[in-house]
Amino acid sequence: MRYRCIKCGYTSSSFTARCPECGYPMEVVLEHKEWSLDEEEPSIWRYGSLLPPPKRRVSLGEGLTPLRRIEGIVVKDETKNPTGSYVDRGSSVLVSCSDLPEELELDFSQDVTVSISTYLLKSGVRVKVRVDPSSVELTELLYLSNLDVEISFDGGGGRAYESPFMIEGFKTIAFEVFESRGRADGLVIPAESGVLAYGVWKGFLELEELGLSRVPPIYLAYHGTVKTGLLEILEDRGARLMEVDATDALKSLVQLAKKGVYIKPVAAKAYSLAKELGGGVIAVLTGTGLRKWEHGAEGRPLTELQGRILDVLREEGEMTAYQIWRRIEDVSLQGVYKALTKLVEAGMVTSRRAMMKRRKIRLYRANESGSRDGPEGEAEGIPD
Ligand SMILES: [Zn+2]
Repeated sequence: MRYRCIKCGYTSSSFTARCPECGYPMEVVLEHKEWSLDEEEPSIWRYGSLLPPPKRRVSLGEGLTPLRRIEGIVVKDETKNPTGSYVDRGSSVLVSCSDLPEELELDFSQDVTVSISTYLLKSGVRVKVRVDPSSVELTELLYLSNLDVEISFDGGGGRAYESPFMIEGFKTIAFEVFESRGRADGLVIPAESGVLAYGVWKGFLELEELGLSRVPPIYLAYHGTVKTGLLEILEDRGARLMEVDATDALKSLVQLAKKGVYIKPVAAKAYSLAKELGGGVIAVLTGTGLRKWEHGAEGRPLTELQGRILDVLREEGEMTAYQIWRRIEDVSLQGVYKALTKLVEAGMVTSRRAMMKRRKIRLYRANESGSRDGPEGEAEGIPD
C-alpha cells in the first residue's frame, strides 16, 4: 500500500495526510485490487478486498444504507448509518487502519467529531473534544454530550479531517450502488469540502479499472463560498458542479423532514438537483444529528398491548401507569411502562406530573390525534 498526492502524483510509502510538495490531500493506492465480496459481512468491510488492510477492525455496522424512492427520486439514505452520518464509513476505516494512542484530543468539527469520537471510544481510546463556543453546531454538541467524552470549551475552530482513510471509507458508497444496481445513471453528491464526493468518484473509478462498471455522471450539489482544491480536481475529471436555488432546496428539506428523513441543507440541494435532472439519477442524502429524534412521526403500527392501553385511556381519561396496569392485568407493570414510553415518543399519549396524596405521580392521557386505525376505534367514538 502506498500514498499518493491526488494532484501532483507525489508518492510515499509511509502515511502522509497532505502532500509535502503541493499541499493537496493524499490518497491510498492499493497494490492489488480485487472485487471479492464477503456477503456475510453486514458493514462496509464486505468490500475488504478493496480497502486498506486494518490493524484491527472497528465497525459498528456502518454502510449498507438503503437505496429507496422518496416521491419518485431514488436516494441513498446515509442518515441510516450508526451515528446518522456518512462519516461513519470513513471513521471505521480511519480508526481501523491507524496507530492509536491511549488518549486523543480532537478539535470539534461539524459532521466528523461525533462520528470519529464514537469509533475511537469503541476501540478503547479516551477522547477529549475541544469546542470553539463561537462556531459549534448545537445538535451535534448535544449528541456529543451523550458520549463518554471529555468536552472543554477552549477550542480554536474546527480543522478539516481530510484523510486518505476517510476517502477509502466513502468509496464504499460506490460499491454499494454497484452491488445493488449494477449500474447507475448518475449520482448527485452534496459537496462542501469535496472529500465525500472524491471518495465516491474514486470508488467508481476503481470499479471501472476492474472492468466492472463505468464511472457514472457525477453531479456535485455545491454548497460553500470557496471552491476547494478537491472540487477543482473533480471538475477536471468530469464531475459537474451545480448550483441550486436556495428556496427549492429548503422546500426539499421540509418535504423530506415530513417523511422522517432529517438531512442537511446541502443534501436538500442534492435532492432538488436529482429531481431536476430526472431519469434515475440517485441523490446521496447526508444527515444531521437529528437522527436520534426521528422516531414517532411515521405512524408505525401499534403493538397489541399499545392498542389496549390506548383503548383504556380513551375510556377512562387520565390515569397512572399503575391504574392502567390494574385494568389490563395479564402483563407486567414494567411492560406497561415500556409501551407507554413508546406511545409518548410516537406522540399518541401525553404525560404530565401531578400530586396525589402528597406523592408525585405521572398521569397519562390519549391524544385526540392519536386515534387508532380500524373499526373498533371509530365505533367507540369520541364523546361530544
Ligand atoms: Zn502534490
